[in-house]
Amino acid sequence: MTSAQPATNSRRNLYINGKWEPQTGTGSINVLSASTEEVIGSVPEGTLEDVDHAVHAARTAFDHGWSETTVQERAEWLRKLANALKERSEQIAKTIAQEVGSPLSMATSIQAGLPVVITNSYAQMIAEAKLEQEIGNSIVFREPFGVVGAITPWNYPLHQIMAKVAPALAAGCTVVLKPSEVAPLNAFLLAEACEAISLPAGVLNIVTGYGPMVGEAIATHPLIDMVSFTGSVRAGRRVGELAADTIKKVTLELGGKSAFVVLDDAPFEKAIPAGARNAMLNSGQTCSAWTRMIVPRSRQQEALDLASQAIGSLKLGDPLDSSTRLGPLISATQRERVEGYIAKGKQEGARVVLGGGRPAAFAKGYYVEPTIFADVKSKMTIAQEEIFGPVLSVLAYDTEEEAIRIANDTIYGLAGGVWSGDPERAMRVARRMRTGQVDVNGGKYNPLAPFGGYKRSGIGREMGLYGLEEYLQVKAIAR
Ligand code: NAD
Repeated sequence: MTSAQPATNSRRNLYINGKWEPQTGTGSINVLSASTEEVIGSVPEGTLEDVDHAVHAARTAFDHGWSETTVQERAEWLRKLANALKERSEQIAKTIAQEVGSPLSMATSIQAGLPVVITNSYAQMIAEAKLEQEIGNSIVFREPFGVVGAITPWNYPLHQIMAKVAPALAAGCTVVLKPSEVAPLNAFLLAEACEAISLPAGVLNIVTGYGPMVGEAIATHPLIDMVSFTGSVRAGRRVGELAADTIKKVTLELGGKSAFVVLDDAPFEKAIPAGARNAMLNSGQTCSAWTRMIVPRSRQQEALDLASQAIGSLKLGDPLDSSTRLGPLISATQRERVEGYIAKGKQEGARVVLGGGRPAAFAKGYYVEPTIFADVKSKMTIAQEEIFGPVLSVLAYDTEEEAIRIANDTIYGLAGGVWSGDPERAMRVARRMRTGQVDVNGGKYNPLAPFGGYKRSGIGREMGLYGLEEYLQVKAIAR
């Protein structure tokens, strides 16, 4: 295990107005390694004053400069920022492997790699964007929305940050960011990247701290025009309530309980392992994970065998070991929550076919065995609530209609998958799923496609052009 360096990760300053400003309070938040449980750093516990200071910096930068830069200038800044993140990608991957517990291989490709892809994609998109349109005697202009408050979670921390910061900056907005208090160290690497390229002061400001203090101060601040939130339904609802008072625009990227519908004519040997791996990505701490596998009753046993094989072969271990495919959960709290759901699944009559406990091999770290439940009924808690851990629920159906009904039978609608031997049939079923994204027959991840939820999975979209739209206001000038 590579030892952490608390000295370098002990942060006392906040990145505000292009400078490292001393925190106004005295509190700090310790960051723990998911695999060793040791303190690997600490960050300031931000206060109302810190938020106010950051918002004023963002407001000034918006009103006096950034919103008036040309799209070509902003594209150039984003390209520089993408390069600065790329130069730090090894450090970013290692940091996230420790604070989140993501295996280094995946932390490198996704946690560190995707933010670079996103930032570059917005550089290109804004350079080519059509921000004016004639409608009759009016010209319709797309203008930057204003000062954005961005509140983000811990599971893909830098990805979720850049999915907001990159389109906001591209649109001409300025940002006050509150990263997750559970995995905040990567946000300081982003601040260092901004500093290294001399991003104009106040364009991006970062205040670490807790949700009820820093997050709520952002949601209520009168000088913030829009809040972009990613996290739980509970906190998203609170942000929406608070932001209503000043009529802020709010976008919410919330939880999920996504379904993978395997039709009876699917090639199981391909489909089932793909679905099983999807459910386990980042130890199941993925909002879009296909945590419900919906299989034909007549082929249920075959599906369970293939899923058990696929998941059983994933090496559970130290995230910093390059051969590890499954790491620990992020925290003791998260492990308790997941274990609570496993107990509930057993209690409600679902059958454990793999895992179900804590692995004996690790004295430290928040590990949980990857777990598969069979005989899951749609009304059970483990089929309804987001577990956010390495737990797959397998549900059986008798008809295609029933499969679709089960897939839609949750309060969420974030993602999903369908697999069939007949691509048109798969597409038909995908169209009937009430969810923001569906992959058909193993469709590849597309970082330009809109991402976001139906129902209680949220409001609005991130990524690609749809993500950019959220940060633009519409003005019509009639002549
Ligand atoms: P969380 O809601 O606990 O925290 C998310 C952020 O909100 C954190 O920065 C937190 O400090 C802040 N927050 C908490 N209470 C707040 C309040 N009262 N006011 C303002 N801000 C507050 O979520 P989490 O545990 O960090 O992340 C896991 C959740 O995020 C899961 O439900 C997951 O599905 C969801 N998620 C959704 C997406 C998506 O794109 N739809 C992506 C990743 C995670």
